[in-house]
Amino acid sequence: MKKRITIVGNGFASLFFIQYLLHLPVWPYPLGLVRRIWSKYDITLIGNGEFVYFPAIPEFIVGKKNRAGVCVDIRPFLRRRNIRFVDDFVTDIQDGGRRVVTRDGSYENDALFLGIGPDFLKDDIPGTREYTHSPCYGPDDMEVFVSKVNAMEGGTVYLGFKINRADGFVAGRAGQMYECACLLDYALRQRGVRDKFEIHFFSPNIEPGETGAITDRLSERDIILDYGYEPREFVEGGMRDADGSFRKADLVLYSPGITGSELVKNSCLPVTKGGQIATDRYGQVTGLDRVFTAGDCAAHEEPPPWVPHQAHMAQLRSEAAAKNMRAVLAGKPPSATYRYELSCIMNMENDAMWMHMSSDNKPPFWNLFPRRSKKLITLKNSFENLYLFYLRYL
Ligand SMILES: Cc1cc2nc3c(=O)[nH]c(=O)nc-3n(C[C@H](O)[C@H](O)[C@H](O)COP(=O)(O)OP(=O)(O)OC[C@H]3O[C@@H](n4cnc5c(N)ncnc54)[C@H](O)[C@@H]3O)c2cc1C
Repeated sequence: MKKRITIVGNGFASLFFIQYLLHLPVWPYPLGLVRRIWSKYDITLIGNGEFVYFPAIPEFIVGKKNRAGVCVDIRPFLRRRNIRFVDDFVTDIQDGGRRVVTRDGSYENDALFLGIGPDFLKDDIPGTREYTHSPCYGPDDMEVFVSKVNAMEGGTVYLGFKINRADGFVAGRAGQMYECACLLDYALRQRGVRDKFEIHFFSPNIEPGETGAITDRLSERDIILDYGYEPREFVEGGMRDADGSFRKADLVLYSPGITGSELVKNSCLPVTKGGQIATDRYGQVTGLDRVFTAGDCAAHEEPPPWVPHQAHMAQLRSEAAAKNMRAVLAGKPPSATYRYELSCIMNMENDAMWMHMSSDNKPPFWNLFPRRSKKLITLKNSFENLYLFYLRYL
């Protein structure tokens, strides 16, 4: 009997998980048929069918990327691999993970993988939902922000982030917001209206007076640093401070801290202090048998404090989870663990920096590339084009 594997979500974590579970990275249609006959696994993926390449969303600001370019219909990718797709939304997980309940049905499995992504602490600062936009909410919200900026001839724009550190690592989006600030500066200069705008950058998680390469890039662009600042609430036309005073802001682009979704909180999944899925070093959900997870929904066991949620980390974690699920389904104990690595290219259009840290001090790509060069933008675009080509056609 084939083992039934259910995968929830069709973001980075789930798609990397499939890549490593199936061994072969590329699946022309005839091979999918072979998989149906020979594979030990009967795989079902439950999701909305649309993959979003989030790392390209900041570039909406300079008009180089848009919704159509960053979204992929993932159903042909799944068909090529003979994976059954269920267009639905999971509302509950029962029986220690063996049963997944959706809006329209219920699915039994022998092993479960959860790649359900993050939720955001939108109630942390009142008014976040009503008065702020965020690249983290996806392409539609970012397009609204960009159209509002493009309609302005001048004004004040605040960009910022907050991190949820309750689980001992960086559950939030810092680098992406720095990137958005630098790209906004570039776009306004291109339009010849930069001198009519004030750009502020705020975060309660950065100490006032903090120095470093990113701060230098912001300062070079005359971005006003409000490090240490947290509004008490976002209101119409600006922000209200703790002392009741009002700060004018025509637009706010803000990334709240990351937490787990409603599904994490309202099912049999174990929840950490930070609201995420409690997960061990093998990618196993703590206390549940044959349930694995990776990506932005999953906490770590003893993480280094600097590690963020990233697509790159999702890849490293999904690889370990896939190996361990195969082992467990074959009656062996899990043994694959993962490295911790922060790796991302910050695109500023007229400059770029490779931000990097790793638990084993290995440099990115054997140090083949410079850490600061405009040419890194071409490299970043190549990674994106290759991955999207892989999802669309291979
Ligand atoms: C603006 C921005 C820029 C970024 N830049 C970079 C970068 O340069 N480099 C990098 O490595 N990372 C970057 N990231 C981070 C990266 O995008 C995330 O870490 C990554 O998307 C996490 O993958 P995931 O699969 O865990 O979550 P997601 O990609 O969010 O996917 C989650 C999936 O689960 C589905 N889902 C959720 N709940 C349910 C449910 N109940 N039932 C069914 N399906 C469900 C969703 O529809 C989605 O398909 C960036 C993020 C943003 C927002």
